[in-house]
Amino acid sequence: MKSIFKLSMLFLFILLACQQPAEEKQEAQKSRADIEDKYKWDLTPLYESTEAWKNAKEQFALSIKGFEKYRGKLNNSARILVKCLDELTETSKEFARLYSYASRLSDIDKRESGPLAMEQEMSQLGTEFNKAASFIDPEILSISVDRINAFMKQNKGLQNYAQYIDNIQRIKTHTRNAEEEKLIAEAGLMTGSPYDVYSIFDNAEMPRAKVELNDGSEVILDAAGYTGTRASSNRNDRQRVFEAFFGKLKEFEGTLGSNLYAQVKGDMFYKNVRKYDSCMESALNVNNIPTSVYTSLIKSTHENLSTLHRYLELRKKMLGLDELCYYDMYPPLVPRIDLNYSVEEAQNVIKEALKPLGEEYVQTLDKAFNNRWIDMFPTPGKRSGAYSTGSEYDVHPYILMNYNGQYDDVSTLAHELGHTMHSYFSNKMQHFVNSRYPIFLAEVASTTNENLLIAHVLDKINDPNKRLAILGSQLESFRTTLFRQTMFAEFELIIHQKAEKGESLTGDRLTQIYLELLKQYYGHDKGITIIDDLYGIEWAYIPHFYYTFYVFQYATSYCASTALAQKMLSGEEGMVDRYINDFLSAGSSDYAIPILKKVGIDMTTTEPFEMAMKKMNDIMDEIETLIEK
Ligand SMILES: [Zn+2]
Repeated sequence: MKSIFKLSMLFLFILLACQQPAEEKQEAQKSRADIEDKYKWDLTPLYESTEAWKNAKEQFALSIKGFEKYRGKLNNSARILVKCLDELTETSKEFARLYSYASRLSDIDKRESGPLAMEQEMSQLGTEFNKAASFIDPEILSISVDRINAFMKQNKGLQNYAQYIDNIQRIKTHTRNAEEEKLIAEAGLMTGSPYDVYSIFDNAEMPRAKVELNDGSEVILDAAGYTGTRASSNRNDRQRVFEAFFGKLKEFEGTLGSNLYAQVKGDMFYKNVRKYDSCMESALNVNNIPTSVYTSLIKSTHENLSTLHRYLELRKKMLGLDELCYYDMYPPLVPRIDLNYSVEEAQNVIKEALKPLGEEYVQTLDKAFNNRWIDMFPTPGKRSGAYSTGSEYDVHPYILMNYNGQYDDVSTLAHELGHTMHSYFSNKMQHFVNSRYPIFLAEVASTTNENLLIAHVLDKINDPNKRLAILGSQLESFRTTLFRQTMFAEFELIIHQKAEKGESLTGDRLTQIYLELLKQYYGHDKGITIIDDLYGIEWAYIPHFYYTFYVFQYATSYCASTALAQKMLSGEEGMVDRYINDFLSAGSSDYAIPILKKVGIDMTTTEPFEMAMKKMNDIMDEIETLIEK
């Protein structure tokens, strides 16, 4: 998910709703009252009571009025600048805490109007806060570099903000004067519309296809209906589901195409007014990621399509098919095996798996398990999916789970704990302003944990069928996270480049571009996968194309974490210490690429990608050996 709230330049409030499948079984859920306290959040470290929250909120509303006294004065002296930034820090901290309390309370039961109203109040207060502090970044920008450097020498306290200030000054050449910036900000009211249109259409108003399955049952193909049936073990069902689902989308090709083109035109607007060479550069520069990281990901992926094709051939063989079609992607390679874990078993296996990360790491996991950082079970009205929050700087992160006892749930818990520990160490070691890790790194710590968990679980399992089940799902992650997301990234790049050249994009043109990529990636012309022309409409199903050059980070994170886990498991000297001290504890004290470099992962080279490919091939080697037996 994208950041849901933006305050000042670096005070981002990010809720990592992760990329986990949100399928939940509609089993009879226990009511909240029937669940033991130890599996429910304790929100009292945030505020003793809702009453206390209300008082703090009123205090906060007054405090944001205090920024006015600094307006127009930040250039005057180092002392004033530090005072203002310290105040911004304290206010932001309090805001994060207030917001967290309201959101956690509301997520426990979405049907309750009280907490929802609290959340909405915070959202409004956030806008007020944003307005009150909005002069700070432009004023900092207007101070000359020499003067900032002189300020830094005069006042040690300002050094806490060095990275924050550098990040503002870095984009000086792409920032316009105050009047123009105001106009650009106003344009935001319009450029956000395509996503809103898509979201309402996709979530609510789009007519759903219905399909009759082999057993005579009828399924409505909304999001849950589609993801729930596309992995069916019955091939006819899969084909029917695909044809109905994409056939329905195809009816709206023109509308959705115009809408996506409107999004691209919005991106073009920002590129042009901010004087970037390309939309990609404009989007990536926000996080100071070189465009070469993006283009070399695509290049490496093309050079390694043979590895994806090897997997597709293996899939065809294991599913016993004469020819592999696009609708054969989702069923598991071997019949699903129930690997059940109680919460205690899950906690133990996670602790064992993450033991290599050292004593403090494991002790903190215990705190998370024992001190009610985690809201574990699904209950009526609770928010679906899973996430970790880390913005409660002086308290501790919180995790929302909907634990059902499957291996996937254990993996999700390990994943969310990766985010939590990243926040824990960064909050502990960094000044608040540098405590939030860059979005480019967000999925590294989480997927590193998934990798360590798989390695540990495989170590203990000898049963070939169980091994095959786990290895198979790991392989599928390589396809969906690395290859599929890179294909999305390439699609985004192509459509933006076409728009930059003045070509217009219609729905059928988008379908044609997407279909070419799909055929190339899946080896259609080589006879590896048969891609029916209808599936070229798949672009219309992907909400992430409204996030503008965002998805490539799923692929880069996956490469980085696969490489990291391999380095750790191979016992590379000093690796774990560097991981804790230079990566998990780094927050945003530096930019993403240099932080990763400190742990030996250089995303400007192809090494992490090659390590990921080697891992994927190793998994296939083992699967082939297992099925020969
Ligand atoms: Zn995540």
